[in-house]
Amino acid sequence: MFSLLFGLGLALLSGLSWAQVATTTSRVLYINSYHPGYAWSDGIEQAIRERLAAAGRPIEVSTEYLDSRRFPDAALRDQQATLLAGKYAAYKPDLVMLSDNDAFHFALKHRARLFPDIPIVFCGYNSFRPALLDGIRNITGVNEEVELTGTVELAIQQFPQTRTLVFITSSGDASSQRIRQIAESTVFPKYRDRFKLLELHDASLPEIQAALGKQGQDSLVFLSGQTRDTGNGRALTPVENGRLISAISPLPVYSFWDFHLGTGIIGGQLLTARDQGLAAAEQALRILDGTRADNLPVVMTSPTSPLFDYAVMQQFGLERSDLPPGSQLINQPHSLWQDYRWQIIGSLLLFAVESLLILALLRVNRQRRQALQALDAERATLERRVIARTVELADSNRQLQAEAEERGHAEAQLREMALTTESILLASPVAIAVYRADGQYVLGNENYAALIGCTPQQLMGFNFRELSTWRQSGLLDQCLAALADGELKKHSVHYVTLFGREIWADCLLLPLTLRNEPHLLVQFFDQSERTHMLQELEMHRQHLAEEVALRTGELALAKEVAETANRAKSIFLANMSHEINTPLNAIISFTDLLQRKSSDPQQQDKLGKILAAANNLHLILRDLLTLARLEANRLAIVAADFTRADLAARIDEAIADSIRRKGLALTLELAALPERMHGDLERLSQMLLNYLGNALKFTSAGGIGLTASIIDDGENDFLVRFAVSDTGIGIAAENQQRIFLAFEQVDGSSTRNFGGNGLGLGINRLLARLMGGEVGLDSQPGVGSTFWFTARLGKAA
Ligand code: ADP
Repeated sequence: MFSLLFGLGLALLSGLSWAQVATTTSRVLYINSYHPGYAWSDGIEQAIRERLAAAGRPIEVSTEYLDSRRFPDAALRDQQATLLAGKYAAYKPDLVMLSDNDAFHFALKHRARLFPDIPIVFCGYNSFRPALLDGIRNITGVNEEVELTGTVELAIQQFPQTRTLVFITSSGDASSQRIRQIAESTVFPKYRDRFKLLELHDASLPEIQAALGKQGQDSLVFLSGQTRDTGNGRALTPVENGRLISAISPLPVYSFWDFHLGTGIIGGQLLTARDQGLAAAEQALRILDGTRADNLPVVMTSPTSPLFDYAVMQQFGLERSDLPPGSQLINQPHSLWQDYRWQIIGSLLLFAVESLLILALLRVNRQRRQALQALDAERATLERRVIARTVELADSNRQLQAEAEERGHAEAQLREMALTTESILLASPVAIAVYRADGQYVLGNENYAALIGCTPQQLMGFNFRELSTWRQSGLLDQCLAALADGELKKHSVHYVTLFGREIWADCLLLPLTLRNEPHLLVQFFDQSERTHMLQELEMHRQHLAEEVALRTGELALAKEVAETANRAKSIFLANMSHEINTPLNAIISFTDLLQRKSSDPQQQDKLGKILAAANNLHLILRDLLTLARLEANRLAIVAADFTRADLAARIDEAIADSIRRKGLALTLELAALPERMHGDLERLSQMLLNYLGNALKFTSAGGIGLTASIIDDGENDFLVRFAVSDTGIGIAAENQQRIFLAFEQVDGSSTRNFGGNGLGLGINRLLARLMGGEVGLDSQPGVGSTFWFTARLGKAA
C-alpha cells in the first residue's frame, strides 16, 4: 500500500516536471529554401528569430537549409527529407515554419513522414493561391505578392514631371512571370493614358542600356524582372541583377523588393523579407498560444515598407521631404555622432569621469590647501597662544614670586606684629587679660596683675566663673552675655580683690576666637585714681559752693547796707539841699532886695558878687538835689504835652545869647521832631542845657549844633535822639567812659579852668535812663565832641 502511494507520488512529481518543461520551452523548426548568406531568406529568418525572442516565452528555433537555389536537383530534396526524418525522429518540433516556395513544397511532400500533425506556417510563397491548400490541414502562412501600384504612385509623386514609365520584365522564373502578369493586368491599364509605357522584356543588359539611354530625363525605370544575361555558370542573383541594371541606368530605378535596395536603385514601396518574417512569426506565436493553424487565414496582402537609398536619392535630386511618412533610409551620410557614437559617448564618459576626477582632485587639492592653511593658521594661533601662555606663566611666576616675597614680608610683619602686639599687650597701661570661655585664665599683662594686686604667677589657675567678686559686681553676667552673643560689653566695677586691693575700673569684655576656640579678652581701665580725684574734687566743689554761698550772703548784706547807706546819703543830700536851699533862697531874695535898694556902688558890687555866688550855689544845690533824687529813685517824670517851639524857646532863652556872645555859631535842627509831643519838658530842657552848657564852656571858636532825630517811631510814642556837637577841646578816649559818672571830670584842672562840678553828665545819664533812653559821646581831642542822649516821648493826644 505504502509503495503504491510512493510510486503514485513519484509519478505525479515526474509528470509535473515534464509538464513544466513542455509548457516552458516551445520548439520551432524553420526550413529555409535557400542557403545562409542569401539576403532574402536570411532577412526572413532574422525577423522570425527576433520576434519570437521578443515574445517573452522560451522558444527554441532550429534552422534547416534546403539550398535549392544553388542546388536545384529534386533528388537532393528527397535525400534531405530522409536526413531530416532521422534527425527529427526523437526531436519533435511544436511548429514548422517555411520560407519560400521550395520549402513549402518540400514540407508538404514529406509532411507525413517528417511532421505528421505538426502545424505549419509558411511565408515568402510567391503568388500563393488558396487552392494550394485544398485537403491540407493545420497550415497557414503569408503570401508573397508584390504590389506594383504603390511603388509606381510613389515614384510619380516624387518626380511629377515624369512622362515615361519603363518596366524591365522577364519570364525567366516564376516570380518574374507573376510580376509581369500583375503589371499587365493592373499597372499598364491604369497608367497607359497618362504616361508613355515602355516594357523591356527579356532584354539583355546592352539592350537595356541602349533603350534607357534613349529615354528623356522625364522617365522612370521599374525593375520588375531579371536581365536576359546569366551569370558565370549560374543564374544571377537578384542583388547582382539589381546592381547591373542600376549601374547602366541614367534614370531613377524603382523596385518592389527590399533585396534590390543598396544595389543602386532609388527605392520604392518594397516587399521586405523582414515584413514577411514578422508576419509569419505573429501567426506562429498565436499557434503556440493554442490557436489552430486552420483558424488563422493566410495573409494574402503582403506587407510592404517605404525604403529608399539616400545616396541614390541625392543623385536624382530627391529630398527627405519627398519621402512618405515612416520611410526608412539606407546610405545616409553618416554623422560623426552615428559613426563614432560609442566612441564619443565613451570619450565623453571618459572626459566626464576625468573631469570629475580632476574636479575631485582639485577639490581635494583645495581642501588640502585649505586644510594646510587652516593648519598653518591653527599652528600660528597655537604658537601665539603658547607665547601668550608663556608670557602669562612668566607673569604669574613673577607674580607668584612677588606674592611669595610679599607673603614672606607679610609673615615677617605678622611675626613682628605678633611680637609687637605681645610687647604692646605686656607694656599696655591698660590691664589686659585673656580667659578661655570656660573661665580659665590664659594670659595677662603686668598691669592686670598689678590692678588685681598680685604677681602674674598668682593669676595662673584663676577662673573668672568662680570669682565671687565678679559675680557680685555683675561682671560675670556681662562676661557670659558677651560670650553668648559675641558682642563687646562694657561694665564698670568697684570691688575689693582677693588680694585686698580696692579697685574702680571700667571693663571692656571682647569675645574672640583664638586657635578656633572661644576666648574672652578682658580689659580693665583702672579708674581708682580718677575716682579718688573725682571724690576729692567733689569735696572741694562742695566746700567752694558753701564758701560762695557764704560770700554771696555777705555781699548781699553789704550791698543792702551800701544801698541803704546810699539811699540814706541821697535822702540826706536831698534833705540837706532842701535845707540849704531854703536859707539860700532867703539870702538871694534879700541880697537882691538890698542891691536894688542900695545906692552905694561899692556895696552894690559886693552885693552883686554875693548874689552871683548864691545863684551859683543854688544851681549846684539844684543839681545835687536832682542827682540825689535820681539816685534815691525819688525823682518822678512829670509828663505833659508841649510843642517843638516850646523846646526851642527854652533853649533860646537859656543859652543862645551866651553862645552868640562868645562869638560861636549856633545851629538848631529840631525839624525831625513832631510839632507836638508829650513828655517832661523841664527835664528834657535840663539835659539839653547840660550838654549845650558844656559845649559852650569847652569851645573857644567854631560853632555848636543841636540836632534832633527820630530813631524809632511807634504808634503811641517815639524814641528821639538829641545830639550836641561842638568844635571844642574834645576828650581823650580813655576818659570818655568815666565822665558820665557823677562827680567825674577829665581832670581836676577842668574845674579851675572851666568851672563846673562834674554833676551834669551824671544827671543826664540817670535822666535818660528814666526816660527809657541812654547816653553816649563821640569825641576827638582838639577837634570837638558830640554828646547825645535818647529818650522815649509820647505822642501828643
Ligand atoms: P562840669 O560841671 O565839670 O562840667 P560835667 O559832668 O558836666 O561837670 O562834666 C564833666 C566833665 O566832662 C567836665 O569837667 C569836662 O572835663 C568834661 N566835659 C563835659 N563836656 C565837655 C565838652 N563839651 N568838651 C570837653 N570836655 C567836656
